[in-house]
Amino acid sequence: MSERIPVAVLGATGAVGQRFVSLLAGHPWFEVVAVTGSGRSAGRPYGEAVRWVVPGEVPPAVADLIVRPTEEVGEARLVFSALPSEVARQVEPRLAARGLVVCSNASAHRMTPDVPLLIPEINADHLGLIAAQRRARKWQGCLVTSPNCSTTGVVFPLKALHDAFGVRRGHVVTMQAVSGAGYPGVPSLDILDNIIPYIAGEEEKVESEPRKLLGRLTEAGIEPAAFAVSAQTHRVPVLDGHLAAMSVALERPATVEEALAVLEGFAPPARVRDLPSAPARPMAVRREVDRPQPRRDREAGDGMVVTVGRVQPCPVFDIKLVSLVHNTLRGAAGGAILNAEWLVAEGYLERVAA
Ligand code: NAP
Repeated sequence: MSERIPVAVLGATGAVGQRFVSLLAGHPWFEVVAVTGSGRSAGRPYGEAVRWVVPGEVPPAVADLIVRPTEEVGEARLVFSALPSEVARQVEPRLAARGLVVCSNASAHRMTPDVPLLIPEINADHLGLIAAQRRARKWQGCLVTSPNCSTTGVVFPLKALHDAFGVRRGHVVTMQAVSGAGYPGVPSLDILDNIIPYIAGEEEKVESEPRKLLGRLTEAGIEPAAFAVSAQTHRVPVLDGHLAAMSVALERPATVEEALAVLEGFAPPARVRDLPSAPARPMAVRREVDRPQPRRDREAGDGMVVTVGRVQPCPVFDIKLVSLVHNTLRGAAGGAILNAEWLVAEGYLERVAA
């Protein structure tokens, strides 16, 4: 038996913050001891300040915590950040400098050269950047980021295909749920009966982040993967779950059956599979002609499994497919918790024996 590590959730009242609070209730390694919000919520009990929009009730152990200003994290040693990016840009480095381990969902530092952009099943070794980060910045703590929610859905099939055949380039069209815009998010009069073909900053993230995630850790940092991605991103009237339609050009030709075999066979390192939040298989492949669908497939593996389907030959590139990710679970809070578990497993944050 070990004591649980005290953690704080920054931006705990938001769409992603609520997922953190919900997923961390009863977590075997982590215990929420502090929650933060903006001036709107600070000073009020969490259960009163939050407009709870995720399934279930506010966990009783957190409902009575008083929401604190962002940098007052009490005895927490690890913080999960669900802050708006412009706030995260300033706050997260200051907390890492104070000795905290920061696992962030915000985009502010994802592409910073000495900050790991991490999915343990994809690039577990990129934690190796932390040594250089600590040296250069004289930090006791560290900062690790999770990718954009759509990037997460895209990069699982990309990783399997890249390892087996080499990816030369890809084209991605996303259909993204409204919860991806936070709460209250997109006004109902804009999104009902509609599709919006623009999400600020999103195309750039889906085009750049997969190259860092599938890049190679070297002495000089991450050498990005050599392929190019073109992305078009759309907001659609779905509650949760981002769908991505992708076409991929490969270095070495592959049949659909060969592509299906590597997608179905994708397996992360055994030590990653053993983490508390890791699904046994992080990517599921459906062979029905009409899957994946957000409503039917987003909860796969408690929202931690990316579901791929519609694997077909592409007359323009080589292989086309559709991928679905639960944007606030695997694509945000669940992914960041898995990152924190990997940091613990790798010895960056010790649990204290009871
Ligand atoms: P959200 O629903 O708008 O929540 C924002 C949170 O930040 C709230 O707790 C809010 O507190 C707090 N906040 C706002 N302004 C602040 C300030 N000036 N100082 C301190 N705290 C402040 O947003 P979200 O969707 O949860 O997203 C949070 C972060 O995760 C963003 O960086 C986003 O890009 C990223 N992300 C989101 C998703 C997704 O699917 N939604 C996926 C991946 C990554 P109050 O409620 O007290 O105002």
